Amino acid sequence: MSDIINILPDSVANQIAAGEVVDRPASCVKELLENAIDAGATQIQLIVKDAGRSLIHVIDNGKGMSDSDARLCFERHATSKIHKADDLFAIHTMGFRGEALASIAAVAQVELKTRQANNELGTCVVIEGSDVKSQEPCSTAVGTSIAVKNLFFNIPARRNFLKKDTIELSHIDEIFRRVALVNNSISFSFHSNGKLLYDLRASNKAQRIAAICNMDGTQKLFPVKEETELVSVEGYVGKPEYARKTRGEQYLFVNNRFIRHQKLSFAVELAYKDMIPDHSYPCYFLFITVDPSRLDVNIHPTKTEVRFVDEQAVSAILRATTKKALGQFRLSSEIEFNPSDEIDFTPAPKDYIPPTPRISYNENFNPFEASPTTPTTGGWGSSSRMAMRSAGWGDNKMAQNDLQHFFDDREDVDAGSVLKKETLEASTPMATVIESSEEEGDASSSDLPIFLLNRFIVTTLRSGLLIVDQCRAYERILFERLMNRRQENGAAGAQQLLFPVTCSFAPADAELMADSIDEIRRMGFIIEKMGQCSYVVSATPPDVKESELQMLFDQMVTDIKCDMMQRFGDRHRSLCMSMARQMAVGTVGRLSPDAMQAIIAELFACQVPNITPSGKKTMVILDADAINERFR
Ligand code: ADP
Ligand code: MG
Repeated sequence: MSDIINILPDSVANQIAAGEVVDRPASCVKELLENAIDAGATQIQLIVKDAGRSLIHVIDNGKGMSDSDARLCFERHATSKIHKADDLFAIHTMGFRGEALASIAAVAQVELKTRQANNELGTCVVIEGSDVKSQEPCSTAVGTSIAVKNLFFNIPARRNFLKKDTIELSHIDEIFRRVALVNNSISFSFHSNGKLLYDLRASNKAQRIAAICNMDGTQKLFPVKEETELVSVEGYVGKPEYARKTRGEQYLFVNNRFIRHQKLSFAVELAYKDMIPDHSYPCYFLFITVDPSRLDVNIHPTKTEVRFVDEQAVSAILRATTKKALGQFRLSSEIEFNPSDEIDFTPAPKDYIPPTPRISYNENFNPFEASPTTPTTGGWGSSSRMAMRSAGWGDNKMAQNDLQHFFDDREDVDAGSVLKKETLEASTPMATVIESSEEEGDASSSDLPIFLLNRFIVTTLRSGLLIVDQCRAYERILFERLMNRRQENGAAGAQQLLFPVTCSFAPADAELMADSIDEIRRMGFIIEKMGQCSYVVSATPPDVKESELQMLFDQMVTDIKCDMMQRFGDRHRSLCMSMARQMAVGTVGRLSPDAMQAIIAELFACQVPNITPSGKKTMVILDADAINERFR
């Protein structure tokens, strides 16, 4: 049999490798920025056109490259950062695999200009799809300028795979923020399609955070600082009252590299336990330093996951440090905290879990007992949620599980089928039903509806039992209210704010907002752009709470990024879904019987009452057969 094995030409091998390193414009931006940092630059400019599709240009004032290095840097495994295997265990640079430039050059048209300080002239290399087209002397500033044009010009499949410009730009924005946050002593600028998005001077960490995240460090953040033998932690954590509904501004860095680490993030969030409502997330900017030999280096350089040798201890330290910062600066009577409690962390035993600082609260306090409130539909919020939890509500886990199983068993009752309104009308609940049940002596109307397991509204129907998920029902109701406002073109019923509220966004997020501004107005917001990254809201739909505006828009932007638009097609509908889901999250807690009745009534008046806009059940009806069946 003849031989069949070929060695792939370099250009093909590079293209394959490129798939791993450069999968979208943002990853190319990351590699170029990191190279500039590794080269000791103090000023870095990033210029992109068409979200990096047609141009990604990074200019630095770092140490530059010699003529021959300028050619060599595009070879695979060309790196100046490690020389031998042992170096792998003491990496202090961002890159080390020598793959980035080779990969980028394989899938784009690249022009590199570079000059070292001791040379009069620099060199210019043009390379396209791994083919060196030219190299000649040129006059250029000290440092390096790399222009990457027409990314994926030779891989149409990958080019077509790219998302809309706004989405690709938001990925680039996120990369830029991560890099700029941790390198606060470097000046950065970032232009997109000729527009200046960031102009960051060298500054301290707090100023950099403020400049990037529209956050006044002293107002919204507490400083954190802890040194132990194992790690040092520095940075800022958000005050509990600024927790948001999305995980947006959570930044964890290890040895100057942005990382994602579920356990560590969880440790930080745990420090906020009982200080912020469920489903809210604190913001934090934490910079961890550990001995590189205590990190798993065998990780993919483009990935953000890392492994710590002392994971348990590092999590414990993070949690304790965060808790300490919150306690020290809060000085609130809720938290008993002794700031002189030093944290002693000689490398902790593997399973050590630090004791949780005690929170004092009144176990018997029940906000609803003292002064029964009678909120109207649309008027209740999340504020009482924590109080309810500490008052012991919703602890009935067993019972909840039972009910859940029961529901799962009953999946066939209405699973998947969108009940038609007519079918439901046959079993309309509410006053009429209660009257008739009284006649039959089934249940006393004064007890109905009841609120069960801190989640469900339960009432009787002529034909059986109706169980409504309060929060989901409200989501459906809000969604239809928002959608209906479209016909009235938004303006009808908009509620004027006493003082306009300013919402701020990261530059790329502000663009996403701009993209959707017509739809947002049609929901009933009166909203105007102010400056580059802020919007001023002067009126809202009636159900929206002023204090939740920023959070609602943040979630909306996140949803846009998650490509909801593409999944559901109709943008206005998607935005209404996002808004309704977000607004409904806070609607837990017991309502007055009238308010519960009103929810059921409005739910049944909806176009599609039995599922949420995203298809989850809002209600279960147990008819006579189903109930009898349980007693067989
Ligand atoms: P790595 O960063 O993993 O070493 P790269 O492919 O990103 O691999 O870069 C290859 C080499 O090119 C680097 O090791 C460095 O010596 C050189 N280089 C890349 N970018 C720059 C830059 N902006 N300034 C100076 N040298 C650079
Ligand atoms: Mg590199």
